Amino acid sequence: DEQEREQYWEKIQDALFNQQIDQFRAEFLELHPYDQAKIFETQSEQVRQQIYSYLASEEIADVMENIDIEDIEPFFTEMTTAFAANVLAEMSTDDAVDILNQLDKNKVASYLTIMEKEAAEEIKQLLHYEEKTAGSIMTTEFVVLNANQTIKEAMKHLRKEAPDAETIYYTYVIDNQKRLVGVLSLRDLIIAEGDWLISDVMSERVVSVPVGEDQEDIAKMMRDYDFLALPVVDFQDHLLGIITVDDIMDVMQEEASDDYSKLAGISDVDSPDDSAIA
Ligand code: ATP
Ligand code: MG
Repeated sequence: DEQEREQYWEKIQDALFNQQIDQFRAEFLELHPYDQAKIFETQSEQVRQQIYSYLASEEIADVMENIDIEDIEPFFTEMTTAFAANVLAEMSTDDAVDILNQLDKNKVASYLTIMEKEAAEEIKQLLHYEEKTAGSIMTTEFVVLNANQTIKEAMKHLRKEAPDAETIYYTYVIDNQKRLVGVLSLRDLIIAEGDWLISDVMSERVVSVPVGEDQEDIAKMMRDYDFLALPVVDFQDHLLGIITVDDIMDVMQEEASDDYSKLAGISDVDSPDDSAIA
């Protein structure tokens, strides 16, 4: 309940005040990253600096993924450049890109320069996509399989890749040219026999979205099909990324408030019909 929650937050605050690192880590990391972010945001800069030094960059990355994008800039500005770059590299690529779009261009360039090559390359590619398109909201952390793998081999691969994947609920199947040829859900994988081939189990009629697709249309598709994720492809059906349902929920909220502002705007001016009469 509420009182229990407050007591827990106070314990965290005490651990910070007394500089008890292990105590702080144990209690803070037990919380959902959303609650971690709520606590983090209410601290003074001095205490935030303490938190940066107590947590690893991937742990701060989880916190940053749960802060409103409009509020994020000061936190990255106050981190050392090296630490900020590490945090961004540990984040989901879609979230890292959202944040980089809020930051000063020179800062972005210096982060990308010191960041690990592979992470920097993926982020650079994503920064090129136009706002509000599939490319701008997709993430590149997805798991792929080959059609001629056995279920057993696929499970082994999945176990290895799972920690860094945005979702393992769906795995996509690609051919030698990296073209999307199939999809399986985790349920499909788990109920199959170990010696079956992926090609026997996968659905071949994959619903996908073009990389330039408008985010509002993607939201509609996600609702219509009830998928938890959708694959994003280029014009030759190469798999470029995935969009997960949690990101689509953010899009729907954004679009709803955009529509609201438009409505509010229209009420201030004469409608075209009125001016035609006048
Ligand atoms: P559950 O419904 O219990 O969560 P499920 O295996 O039925 O598990 P769903 O999310 O309902 O999973 O997906 C239904 C089927 O749709 C799965 O077999 C899955 O492989 C398939 N699927 C997932 N994504 C796509 C897609 N983009 N295009 C076509 N089929 C897909
Ligand atoms: Mg189902």
